[in-house]
Amino acid sequence: MSVRVRFAPSPTGYVHIGGLRTALYNYLFAKQQNGVYLLRIEDTDRTRLVEGAVENIIEALEWTGIHHQEGPFVGEDGKLDENGDFGPYIQSDRLEIYREYIDQLLESGHAYHCFCTKDRLDKLRNDQKAMGQITKYDGLCRGISLEEARKRAAAGEPHVIRLKLPANREIVFNDLVRGRVSVNTDDMDDQVLMKSDGYPTYHLAVIVDDHLMGITHVIRGEEWVPSTPKHIYTYEAFGWDAPQFVHLPNILNRDKKKLSKRQGDVAVGDFRKKGYLPEALVNYIAMVGWAPEDNQEIMSMEELIEKFSLDRVSKSGGVFDVDKLNWVSAHYIREADIDRLTRLCIPYLKEAGLISEEDCSGRYDWIRLVVKVSRDNLSYLSQIGDEAKIFFGKEVAVENEEAMDLLRMEHVPGLLNVLKEKVECADAIDAEFGKTIFKTLKKETGIKGKNLFMPVRIALTGQMHGPEMVEIIEVLGRETIIERIDYMLENNMA
Ligand code: GLU
Repeated sequence: MSVRVRFAPSPTGYVHIGGLRTALYNYLFAKQQNGVYLLRIEDTDRTRLVEGAVENIIEALEWTGIHHQEGPFVGEDGKLDENGDFGPYIQSDRLEIYREYIDQLLESGHAYHCFCTKDRLDKLRNDQKAMGQITKYDGLCRGISLEEARKRAAAGEPHVIRLKLPANREIVFNDLVRGRVSVNTDDMDDQVLMKSDGYPTYHLAVIVDDHLMGITHVIRGEEWVPSTPKHIYTYEAFGWDAPQFVHLPNILNRDKKKLSKRQGDVAVGDFRKKGYLPEALVNYIAMVGWAPEDNQEIMSMEELIEKFSLDRVSKSGGVFDVDKLNWVSAHYIREADIDRLTRLCIPYLKEAGLISEEDCSGRYDWIRLVVKVSRDNLSYLSQIGDEAKIFFGKEVAVENEEAMDLLRMEHVPGLLNVLKEKVECADAIDAEFGKTIFKTLKKETGIKGKNLFMPVRIALTGQMHGPEMVEIIEVLGRETIIERIDYMLENNMA
């Protein structure tokens, strides 16, 4: 049987980084097994719907390169469309299907109508809590015959439909990551399968859909482990074979707590906005809770597909380490095609007020050079403004007292004047000039080492550290270098 897997997010507005990893592992597994990876939208919780959320999910996944073969897509007109033979892939378009299947469970005695009011259920729960018991439905409506229940329902009496669990049965499943999991039905609740609004709950919809869509492996977050025994029993109630279950460990923050939105960036869109390249985010997130046998850390999507294996997914939570993400990200920024990088950096340079729309076309080559010499110091692209600001403007702010002291050394004005003269009469201020200028200065002034390099660096950039001097000189060019030397001589050395 060929592998079919799915990513089944609820459209709550954004893709959490944990959801991205779930999608990725599903995708990697499917690709490696020559199977199918599909996207299904689980929107049966009508209270949590967010406008445009489905489009956002699709967009975010497309951006990361995790492409689904079946499911909803955003068409060229911006409208949702579907691909695949197992649709619809949005659960709210499948309500008729769930009704048919809930009837089947009612008929076979595996489900029943429950007319208990919210007040009664609240009281039951509170009483159970007060007595230290586990909180679960007490089965009051289990004895109502289907005929009577149907009459009451037809008369408009509000109700839900619950799964009828057998007493004292051990439900067992074998999780491919966690091993054998076993729960007694006495510790489980008669799960609500259909709500009073006529919508199925997740628990019914997920089973009907996974079955009808031919899903062979359910790969999802570990928060669903407690629900899986109910799902296993529901498969049995329908007379269907259950798929394989794989529960992925949580993604934790550095304090080993579940990563949540309160602590900052957790949405794929947040990382995109900050300027992480999609291939970096994917590469890093693949390694949170999994590592290849050879411990290679930088991996393209193709390599991930080749190396991925479910049996190397760890049982315990993976820690989300921003420093490690930044390290991976810096690697991809250094390796990226320079024109792609420039295109991606331009919005950040504009936002920092360093360039204008006209600059983008008029000075493109120069901007490209700025990006080229700045990229080695970037962990993510929104840092470009800070990194590249030394290349903009005539006036330079000296970063601190230490830098100022170095600039005020007695020999500095003489040194800067010789530099200015060389810059004025050079044929071109290019990489070649940058490479030889320090030798020339040393020969002509006798100044060497730190006394030579530091004042020049500070005079030209205001800072004691930064890109290579050769690069700085080339990017600044003749006019700006002269302007900056003049500015320094006039303003900072009194
Ligand atoms: N809709 C569920 C979620 O958003 C999917 C769980 C599953 O994969 O079964 O987490």
